Amino acid sequence: MRTRPERIAAAAALVLTLAGGAGAAPLVAVDAGHTVEAPGAISARGRSELEFNLDLARKVAEALRAVGLRATLVNADGRIGSLEARPAAVPEADFFLSIHHDSTHASELQSWEWMGTPQTFTDRWAGHSMFVSTRNPDFATSVLCARAVGARLQRAGFTPTDKNARRRAWVDAEHAVHGFDDLVVLYRARQPAMLFEAGVLKHRDEELLLRDEARQARMAAEIATGLKACLTGGR
Ligand SMILES: [Zn+2]
Repeated sequence: MRTRPERIAAAAALVLTLAGGAGAAPLVAVDAGHTVEAPGAISARGRSELEFNLDLARKVAEALRAVGLRATLVNADGRIGSLEARPAAVPEADFFLSIHHDSTHASELQSWEWMGTPQTFTDRWAGHSMFVSTRNPDFATSVLCARAVGARLQRAGFTPTDKNARRRAWVDAEHAVHGFDDLVVLYRARQPAMLFEAGVLKHRDEELLLRDEARQARMAAEIATGLKACLTGGR
């Protein structure tokens, strides 16, 4: 039997939890990679990586809220000043997720024309992959979350790529998680962090899939569900 003060304390804790006080849901910072000035890779049809990153980052933030987590966007206007400024903008976040889209080395590209303009492509590589850093202050949770996201994506039918295994060692090959210790946003983050490459923009068919809003939403939902599982332990 609880004493009366214990019962009051338990009831107060429950009220705090329901009000989002002591039991506030984890906050995930969703970073859109690159900037207006340096917009990253260029797709097979000439669209910048920044535009793809912003589209998916917004979808992921919506999906995180839909599963009961909190979300905040980093670099929503594409004008953040530096790589260091990204994690510095969200010291209170419980997880840092940087959204990117992959490209292909220039030596592998072929020329073609799209809508009257010369562009480059290769259809050799397609699929998502992830990166984590041992220099992050919580490498274990970073890996756990990357694995959870990778498992959700593959169960939902998304196919990973081993394209980046040529340069970056696997942390978990089954779930397409690589080590990349010197990625600034990962080691400067105060919280566990991962960088997500959603797919390869130079692949002509995958580019179209990556532009499909319904598919972006499906991918975002799997990312959100994976992060919820690793950050709340199924609570
Ligand atoms: Zn990028």
